[in-house]
Amino acid sequence: ESVKQAFERKLKEYGLDTVVSVVETGCMGACSLGPLAVVYPDGVYYQKLTPKAAEKIVEEHILKGRVVPEYLFEGEKEKLTIKEKEPAEIPFFAKQVKIALRNVGVIDPLSIEEYIARDGYFALHKALTQMTPEEVIKEIKDSGLRGRGGAGFPTGLKWELARQQKSDIKYMICNADEGDPGAFMDRSILEGDPHSIVEAMTIAGYAIGAQKGFVYVRAEYPLAIERLQKAIETAHEYGFLGENIFGTDFSFDIEIRIGAGAFVCGEETALMHSIEGKRGQPRVKPPFPVQKGLWGKPTVINNVETLSLVPPIIHKGAAWFRQYGTEKSPGTKVFALAGKIKNTGLVEVPMGITLRELLYDIGGGHPQGKQIKAVQTGGPSGGVIPAEYFDTPVDYESLGKLGAIMGSGGMIVLDEDDCMVDVAKFFLEFTVDESCGKCTPCREGTKVMYDILDKITKGEGTMEDIEKLEQLAQVIKDSSLCGLGQTAPNPVLSTLKYYRHEYEAHVKDGV
Ligand code: SF4
Repeated sequence: ESVKQAFERKLKEYGLDTVVSVVETGCMGACSLGPLAVVYPDGVYYQKLTPKAAEKIVEEHILKGRVVPEYLFEGEKEKLTIKEKEPAEIPFFAKQVKIALRNVGVIDPLSIEEYIARDGYFALHKALTQMTPEEVIKEIKDSGLRGRGGAGFPTGLKWELARQQKSDIKYMICNADEGDPGAFMDRSILEGDPHSIVEAMTIAGYAIGAQKGFVYVRAEYPLAIERLQKAIETAHEYGFLGENIFGTDFSFDIEIRIGAGAFVCGEETALMHSIEGKRGQPRVKPPFPVQKGLWGKPTVINNVETLSLVPPIIHKGAAWFRQYGTEKSPGTKVFALAGKIKNTGLVEVPMGITLRELLYDIGGGHPQGKQIKAVQTGGPSGGVIPAEYFDTPVDYESLGKLGAIMGSGGMIVLDEDDCMVDVAKFFLEFTVDESCGKCTPCREGTKVMYDILDKITKGEGTMEDIEKLEQLAQVIKDSSLCGLGQTAPNPVLSTLKYYRHEYEAHVKDGV
């Protein structure tokens, strides 16, 4: 805010405030280098700004056309000239393909005009006026889009199953209950491009035959809620939501429901219970939500990132989307890079890129040049991938084969100083806290696992404890009611698979 004010103050001082606008955008992705600003039309990226730096940029760059080198985007200080400062020239951006994040960090999220100027609501118009609901579903099926929230279920198939249900009422839900520690892509999309979710949900509503949508978002995301609410209101004013959209007989509306931030409410049946005003606990499936969902009616639940990909697919076609990614995992995926990595932040890359490219070319490697030991993907439901597998392509199948999962896209980078038993313990502590308590294996079992891990990390464990840990993990995986419990042992199982010697060292050395 102070940087923005400094820009505005200085521009006013020089009488430039009528010709140069200061536009607030969403996150540009490079969190470790913020606050960031881009000067257009030159496309010069400035990083780590202070109010003083902002004043200098106005005086030097905007007034006199001289780039201020000391605040240029990291690593580019020597070679950049004004002409060369497009994102494609900066390593952090060069390998990224921004589809889900296409507008995030570019437009003013509160301006529907800026969204429209970048093809916003074109897909909705196309769907409603030129396509049947079946054609919309076919386009999504042909694109091969899979759920970006974790499981990777084919989105088009989910829509088709809901469409086939005979019911007077159907519902469309956007799952914005992002809860994985280290993942914040959904928040970033809602804060930086809220209209994309309004548009996508309306298209999905048309496709499945729903009249009502809910966005379930956690209370910890107040800015996302505020901007989404504003986007819903503006979409109403423009006739993109409400009765007879674009003069058709299709009507649709969206309501926001705020959750209290329980991790389990990301599980779709728990989420629906929470919207219904009940305690957010999962139930047995089947019936699946597409058969019996919200208030017993057919319901589709897609997460924020999945939905953000829908408008470009409808607008540009399935073949366009399929040019990115792999045969079985088409398109792009947003990852949140965190931990021992130079460029922390949000990146969007085509599926199939290797972990090495992701961590070194985009992430910039270790901040102090140390060895990266492993990366934890998929948060508390995921697993670790050791450095020897860094040439693995990042897609649903390849990560699954290594015992990790794509999950929502959290990536925590670990180095030689990190103890893998501590890592497993950290994630298990999270799931113990977040277990809803409905079923015994998860409620009691994760706690017992945590206690064993605690013993081991204090140097008080035995070899039998390691075996017991492994057996318990398998039982909890096989017998828990919902995904939270079924995946909770993953961090333990994958660290045991690749770093058993670290567990044994704790036992042998008594530390
Ligand atoms: Fe609740 Fe855990 Fe059972 Fe899921 S697995 S229902 S979170 S106790």
